[in-house]
Amino acid sequence: MRLIVQKYGGTSVGTPERIRNAARRLVEAQREGSRVVAVISAMAGVTDELIKLAHEMSEHPTERELDILLATGEHAASALVAMAVNALGGRAISLTGAQAGILTDRNHTKARIANISPKQIHELLSDDYIVIVAGFQGQTPEGETTTLGRGGSDLTAIALAGALNADVCQIFTDVDGVFTCDPRSVLAAKKLDEIAYDEMLEMAGAGSKVVQSRAVEFAKKFGIEFEVRSSLNQNVGTIAKTETANMEDIVVRGLSLERKQAKLTIAGVRDEPGCAGRIFSNISAAHIIVDMIVQNASIGGTTDISFTIHEDELENARKILMPVVSEVGAKRLNTASGVAKLSVVGIGMRSHSGVAARLFDCLGKAGINIHLISTSEIKIAVIIDEKDLEHAAQMAHEEFGLGRLTIAGGKMPPIG
Ligand code: ADP
Ligand code: ASP
Ligand code: MG
Repeated sequence: MRLIVQKYGGTSVGTPERIRNAARRLVEAQREGSRVVAVISAMAGVTDELIKLAHEMSEHPTERELDILLATGEHAASALVAMAVNALGGRAISLTGAQAGILTDRNHTKARIANISPKQIHELLSDDYIVIVAGFQGQTPEGETTTLGRGGSDLTAIALAGALNADVCQIFTDVDGVFTCDPRSVLAAKKLDEIAYDEMLEMAGAGSKVVQSRAVEFAKKFGIEFEVRSSLNQNVGTIAKTETANMEDIVVRGLSLERKQAKLTIAGVRDEPGCAGRIFSNISAAHIIVDMIVQNASIGGTTDISFTIHEDELENARKILMPVVSEVGAKRLNTASGVAKLSVVGIGMRSHSGVAARLFDCLGKAGINIHLISTSEIKIAVIIDEKDLEHAAQMAHEEFGLGRLTIAGGKMPPIG
């Protein structure tokens, strides 16, 4: 008998009606002849609300207590799904992460899964139960509750699918699959039939996150194929899998857009060991996340270093860098807000040359100026003025054969 793992995200269990909908799908999957394990996230907004409450109690809540608190969101939702299945005449039982045998390290709030002992799940499945597992959590060898980082129910589902040797792993969410661009900010983005793990990771890193990156890394490491699909219709979703030769025919799989970026340039930095280290250790000590870093070739013993951060951090970064600028012998610090990042991603770039030239050329023809460029093996990212972002995305989407786009200007089109 085939074994199926289905994960339902927060919006897919966000209301009593959505919980009943998930329960109906689980019962249906069992009726169609599968053994069924469900992984459930907290109802939409609950985790955020619990975090907010914790910070009302304390500026720095202890991580142990935070984990105990946050795990309750998934406890509640999984118990409610089990009740809904039972009310439909099905047979379900809910388990906490610990009861499901998910063992983690001791790293509270972002624990890693060390091992899964799914003995109890197997026993319940052979007794014909639909087994409902609370996502996002596990326990340490000492029995302490841990959570797996934001979006961690994806990891629970993929890791369980691996441990149970499941035939199918489905990640149910509020969109039809993985799209060429975030479907909430880009109308007419196209749903992809398949995507390579590496492409999903690059798209997530560039601002297009559908499935937790750690979950995708886990799937890649153990070769666990999964499908991202909607809990609100019967449409086939997107299969995430190990790359195959024919995936290379598509040069660009998708685009990611990141708004609200700021660019900083330290001009005339002495070209000697330790200068970059001095700049970025100051920035990282202030917990400012740096994205792109570009250093120019040295001319006359000095070089320029540019990098990007989130716009909200600009003032803070400027304050931190002012004294550092003179320490590294630099001439000045230039900053610009109102910029954005456009990334194009695809493993086909490895075997097709001239992709960067095509992107730059199409942006040039549209009169869009590029401030910074960075590349990886399967990604080209450019920093441009935020006002040009939508136009740039449209041009690139068409240039690489992904079709015409209509941008919703960051507003959410109604989904579901
Ligand atoms: P869940 O609550 O089901 O875990 P998430 O909110 O974590 O759902 O992830 C689904 C969201 O991911 C979608 O609503 C969508 O806005 C966003 N997203 C970002 N980039 C993409 C993309 N390229 N394709 C599909 N969805 C994307
Ligand atoms: N509820 C957790 C979060 O909001 C885990 C998840 O939804 O996957 O991050
Ligand atoms: Mg999620």
